[in-house]
Amino acid sequence: MQEAPKSRSFIEEFIEQDLTQGKVKGAIQTRFPPEPNGYLHIGHVKALYINFTMAGRFAGKCNLRFDDTNPTKEDTEYVEAIKDDIRWLGFKWDKLVYGSDYFEKTYEIAEDFINKGLAYVDELTQAQMREYRGTLTAPGRNSPYRDRSAEESLDLFRRMRAGEFANGRMVLRAKIDMASPNVLLRDPALYRILHARHHNTGDKWCIYPMYDFAHPIQDMIEGITHSLCSLEYEIHRPLYDWVRDHCSLLEAHPRQIEFARLHMSHTVLSKRYLRALVENGYVSGWDDPRMPTLAALRRRGYSAASIHDFLARVGISKADSIVDIRLLEHCVREDLNASARRAMAVLEPLKVTLSNWPEGKTTFVSAENHPDHPEWGAREIPFGKTLYIEREDFAENPPPKFFRLAPGREVRLKSAYIIRCDEVVKNEDGEVIELICSVDLSSLSGGEGANRKVKGTLHWVEAQSAIPFEGRLYDYMFGDAEPAGEPEESADEGEESAPGAKPDFLTRFNHDSIQLIKGFLEPSLGELSPGQSFQFMRQGYFYVDPDSKPGALVFNRTVSLKDSYRP
Ligand code: ATP
Ligand code: MG
Repeated sequence: MQEAPKSRSFIEEFIEQDLTQGKVKGAIQTRFPPEPNGYLHIGHVKALYINFTMAGRFAGKCNLRFDDTNPTKEDTEYVEAIKDDIRWLGFKWDKLVYGSDYFEKTYEIAEDFINKGLAYVDELTQAQMREYRGTLTAPGRNSPYRDRSAEESLDLFRRMRAGEFANGRMVLRAKIDMASPNVLLRDPALYRILHARHHNTGDKWCIYPMYDFAHPIQDMIEGITHSLCSLEYEIHRPLYDWVRDHCSLLEAHPRQIEFARLHMSHTVLSKRYLRALVENGYVSGWDDPRMPTLAALRRRGYSAASIHDFLARVGISKADSIVDIRLLEHCVREDLNASARRAMAVLEPLKVTLSNWPEGKTTFVSAENHPDHPEWGAREIPFGKTLYIEREDFAENPPPKFFRLAPGREVRLKSAYIIRCDEVVKNEDGEVIELICSVDLSSLSGGEGANRKVKGTLHWVEAQSAIPFEGRLYDYMFGDAEPAGEPEESADEGEESAPGAKPDFLTRFNHDSIQLIKGFLEPSLGELSPGQSFQFMRQGYFYVDPDSKPGALVFNRTVSLKDSYRP
């Protein structure tokens, strides 16, 4: 067992009780059960993290199970992406399984339920079934098919499997209680007819089990001891228990425990909503760096360590709440502050010419790679007659407390010299296009004149050697903290909104959430491959995007330096 954390979550308490009371013998077993119908978002990662860390903490194991009982929306593209994401996070699954691997066993259990009078084939239409179901305040009514003989149901169920009937013509239902206050227990559907090709089983099946029937069976087959899932499954638990307790063909006795879903401000954490953003072209894909998917966060420059840190801080609670997206940013900022090499880049360049610097002369100044890691060494950066500074670091009429460059004022160029602005050059439109400055040649950083203090220090790059790059700066996809309200949660196969219908939250999309800039880098960053992170001094953490080509680097700003997160 790992070292006990300071405060334990309610899930750990439950597991501990089950172990001490002997309800679980041997090691615990959990599973992470994504449906391969989209990419993992940070909400799924919470579930993934809890299932894997609980297994790890109690010396147990966690399976990766693709919950692929719904053939129409699933795809192997998603299977591969999900595996890739989990590996990247550093989790190791025990068994890799598919819910569809168990179709035969699930079918066998369904026949057993029919034989035991626990299930029947119902021929009500969907509309009738809805009407018979009753409401939250009124009990439902028994279907006229409810008391047909087991033989008759069995015959029909076999013919359903054989493909004799059209979609929706009949369903297999559990025989529980049409008057139950929990509507989910009013004879829920266990199997439906769906003539659809499945990504794993092909055309073998035309009936598919419903989530509430399939899930406990899958858990039992795998010997899952604790089935950890998000809170919207809480009302399904009595049904989970009913299936488990009536399933005599399998021995295991898994326990379902629910935890709060992760909600995060300024984004949406629901595959359905994220798919709408992709399909309506609001973002460039599931891995657009503004998205809350793991693929997007990786591409934006988030490290696996920062995601682990985030989830550890979010913790495992039983009550729903909205996590401030700035906590996620805070975590990556802390991580990159420690690990990212420093460099200089100018995002919006303004030309500076040094009047008293000899024509054609280039020198090199030394800049440390990381202030806390002298052992990482320093790099030599060229310095010459023409430089670029950040346009916003100059003000012709500086407001109070502006300590950067202004006419007649001095600043230090980081790791180099002090310069003074003597002249402002403008174009015909009156825009500042160049500054003529004089340099104090005795003021080189680290030299004798370095003791002279000026208020501002600016980053810069030398113009001749500078490397152009494209920078992509991001803002939140939604200005609203809660753009979509509470998404309609349905733990089973919910009805999707009509295809083509645009969900309302899209109208609140922030179209200014991406800004493209053309900047310049110091030449030490010339040869980079995607996947590296840097701190561009005073500008934030930047990550080399896979869109980069030799000679055409593209950087994503992972996060700016300013941290406004208050715990
Ligand atoms: P979505 O609501 O985004 O469509 P889903 O529940 O349909 O997600 P699944 O692939 O079925 O997605 O979910 C896999 C697991 O992730 C489930 O166990 C579910 O409980 C969990 N999960 C999904 N979203 C969240 C979330 N926001 N916070 C915590 N756990 C989540
Ligand atoms: Mg689901």
